Amino acid sequence: MQEQKNFKKPVLFFCAFLVLALIAFGTYTLRPSNRAGTAQAATEAAAVSVGQTNAAQSILVLNYHKIDTLMHSLSVNPSDFRWQMEYLKSHGYNTITPDDLIANMEEGKALPVNPVLITFDDGYLDNYKNAYPVLKELGMKATIFVVTDFMGGKKGYLDWSKCREMEKNGITIASHTVDHKSMTDLSDEQLRHELIDSKKAAEEALGHSVDYIAYPTGAYNLHIADMTKEAGYKAAFTIKYGNADKESNVYAIERVPIFHTEHTNRDFVERISYTPLFQQFGWKKA
Ligand SMILES: [Zn+2]
Repeated sequence: MQEQKNFKKPVLFFCAFLVLALIAFGTYTLRPSNRAGTAQAATEAAAVSVGQTNAAQSILVLNYHKIDTLMHSLSVNPSDFRWQMEYLKSHGYNTITPDDLIANMEEGKALPVNPVLITFDDGYLDNYKNAYPVLKELGMKATIFVVTDFMGGKKGYLDWSKCREMEKNGITIASHTVDHKSMTDLSDEQLRHELIDSKKAAEEALGHSVDYIAYPTGAYNLHIADMTKEAGYKAAFTIKYGNADKESNVYAIERVPIFHTEHTNRDFVERISYTPLFQQFGWKKA
């Protein structure tokens, strides 16, 4: 008995070490910023995936903020944005709406090959000036999550008439709460205000049901997810890094954020070709 115990301990330690080493190695080698290879290699990898069927239905959801010339990680340059949209188009990606995504996740409804849901957070005016014309020209759909109290009053943000105009041309407007507070810091009463009142304000302004929300700064927990469902939303988006699939919690859908970096477009190609570890190894999502 004593011998068995002595034997088990080192084995357990070794297994734990192996698992940790595997995670560390995988995270290090597969993290987009550390991945070896040139943009060319990444481009080729993406091109190969275009020809495949979407049996696994792992769906890419991109997340942008500002489309402007500011030197800020959350501000993608308009010329880079155009390059990225043309890249998606020329590599056979097909833009979808949140309705398309949810119908696939919940009912298994078919999506076009290489589906991509393009989203913008915060409702910046530059989305209308610099992103919308490109999307319209290329016939691409996108979704903008707006902060309802910022609309039409706050400098640099959209107003409802521009939202209504964009909705006629492939843009879906959805909620990003009433005033962009971090939801994990709020009481239930405050949460209900952020969830329900932003939904109502957007519905009144747009004249249709508003079914989707993105959590400000991505902060959420399962209680917030439950309250979001109770408030009548069909789904909610986080900034948890990954692709959406049938394993995803529809009230905590993963996205791939796109940043302004030293090599914005090369990083973009690497990010959209990246497959998170849990998908590569077939692990279940939490
Ligand atoms: Zn935000």
